[in-house]
Amino acid sequence: MTPAADPVIRFERVNKWYGAAHVLRDIDLDVAAGERVVICGPSGSGKSTLIRCINALERHQEGRLTVNGTRLDDDDPQAVARVRREVGMVFQQFNLFPHLTVLENLTLAPSTVGGLSRAQAEERALAQLQRVRIAEHAAKYPLQLSGGQQQRVAIARALCLRPRVMLFDEPTSALDPEMIQEVLQVMEELAGQGMTMLCVTHEMGFARAVADRVVFMDQGQIVEQADPATFFGAPRTARAADFLSRIL
Ligand code: ADP
Ligand code: MG
Repeated sequence: MTPAADPVIRFERVNKWYGAAHVLRDIDLDVAAGERVVICGPSGSGKSTLIRCINALERHQEGRLTVNGTRLDDDDPQAVARVRREVGMVFQQFNLFPHLTVLENLTLAPSTVGGLSRAQAEERALAQLQRVRIAEHAAKYPLQLSGGQQQRVAIARALCLRPRVMLFDEPTSALDPEMIQEVLQVMEELAGQGMTMLCVTHEMGFARAVADRVVFMDQGQIVEQADPATFFGAPRTARAADFLSRIL
C-alpha cells in the first residue's frame, strides 16, 4: 500500500483572534492535492479569515498551518513569499489594478516576482486569457469590462503564477445575476483540470456539481463537513439545517 500523499493544506488546531474576538476556533482541516472544497456558513462565521490565513494575508496566533509543505506559523518572510507564489487567490471585488491594462495586470507578478522576461510573461498571460475566453480584451482597462469579465481576468491573473492551489472568496457575490454563470463555468473547468481548490461560496449548484466536500462553518468553528449530497440532503446539525433553509 502506498502512503497517502501529504495534504496540500493542513490546519492543526489553528486559532485566531482579532483583539478579544476569537474568530477561528481549533480549526482542523486537510485538503488533498486535486481536492475541491467548498466552504459555506453564515456571514461573520470566519470563512474569509480561514482562507486568508492560507496565503498569510491574515496571521493565526495558535496552532499549525502548513501549505505545500511550508509551515506558516512563524513570521518567516521567505515562507510567506513561497506560499504566495504557490497559492492563487480570487476575491469578491476582483482587486484588479485599474490603471493597468488587462494584459499588464497579468504580466506584472510573473515579470517581477516570477522572473519571466516580458515576452515570456505576455505569452503566458495570453494563454491564460484564452483559457478564460477573454483574450480579445487584453488591451482594455478593467473598468471597460463587465463584472463577470473582470472576475475572469482576476482568475487568469492568479493562474499566471502557475499556482498549486486556488482560493476563491465569494467570487460571484459582487456580480449581477446574469454574469454569475460565466464565472462559475470557468471555475468548473479549472476543477475539471485537476486544480486543488478552496472556494467560499453560497452557489450551491456549483457546490453540488464540483465539490468533493462541503465544509460548514459557524462562529469560528468547522461545525460539519461532508460530501455535497450528504450535506445538502441530510445535514447533521441544527445550525447547518437552519443555514440551508435560509439560502436554498
Ligand atoms: P465571513 O467571511 O464568514 O463572513 P470573516 O472571516 O470576514 O467572516 O469574519 C469573521 C469575524 O471576524 C467577524 O466577526 C468579523 O467581524 C471579524 N473580522 C473580520 N475581519 C476583521 C478585522 N480585520 N478586524 C477585526 N475583526 C474582523
Ligand atoms: Mg467573507
